[in-house]
Amino acid sequence: MSDRPPSTLNSQLSTLNSQLTTHDSQPLTVPWTDSHCHLAMSDFDGDRAQTEARAEEAGVFRMVVVGTTPEDWAPAAALARLPSRRCTAGLHPHEAARWDEACRRGLRLALAEQAIGAVGEIGLDYHYDLSPRDIQRKVFEAQLGLAAELALPVVVHSREAFTDTVDLLAAFLPGLKGVIHCFTYGPAEAETFLELGLHLSYSGIVTFPKAPLIREAALLTPWDRLLVETDAPYLAPVPHRGKRCEPAHAAITGRFVASLKGAEEEEAARRTSANAAQLFGWG
Ligand SMILES: [Zn+2]
Repeated sequence: MSDRPPSTLNSQLSTLNSQLTTHDSQPLTVPWTDSHCHLAMSDFDGDRAQTEARAEEAGVFRMVVVGTTPEDWAPAAALARLPSRRCTAGLHPHEAARWDEACRRGLRLALAEQAIGAVGEIGLDYHYDLSPRDIQRKVFEAQLGLAAELALPVVVHSREAFTDTVDLLAAFLPGLKGVIHCFTYGPAEAETFLELGLHLSYSGIVTFPKAPLIREAALLTPWDRLLVETDAPYLAPVPHRGKRCEPAHAAITGRFVASLKGAEEEEAARRTSANAAQLFGWG
């Protein structure tokens, strides 16, 4: 655990964010990876090509396009035809009530046939409870089973469901690789996931003023287990908070995490991209 109290971290926050604001317009030469974005969503239908170009200009050369429903598995895979992309397929916990034998077979087919880097995003969301919790657990477990069977890593969504997430993941460990995407817990939970051998991915939320525990978690996450992501179109980092998020913003979140941890930007980009490459099969 970090020995820096949250109050110290909060006082550093405005300095970090003002450094990033000044930095925002400068071109980057370091290769960031957006390890989680929803580029197939209709939010990008009007300017997807420009969005992709802006990502590259910002130094975000690789991205993982995430599929969350049977309807977006194929579009995500289509966007991942470039060598700089990977995609995933899974049934999001919000949609868990849709799970049936046809869905399971469709997912298995998608995972086997497409250049899929992972099963995801899958998991548990007890904040919104959009599907009944017992069904969320059953569907998460079934998809963890598919990942184990196909030797694919998992992209895990876990919100206000820490204990059940750990219990279900633990049944497939060791052996299963994966990432807790958009990590929103604190340092104690981070330590548990790290002990299980999982990676932790930080989104724009790490830049928000009311997220001192997430910053504490980022501080204790070793560089060889840390990823950055946008979860675009959601959760744009400061100074774009509230606007549509896009993959270019992975560089902003990455720079923020680098400053927070006292690392050089280039080193942080190199290491987080290497972790994503290892996890999602860029070799
Ligand atoms: Zn997502």
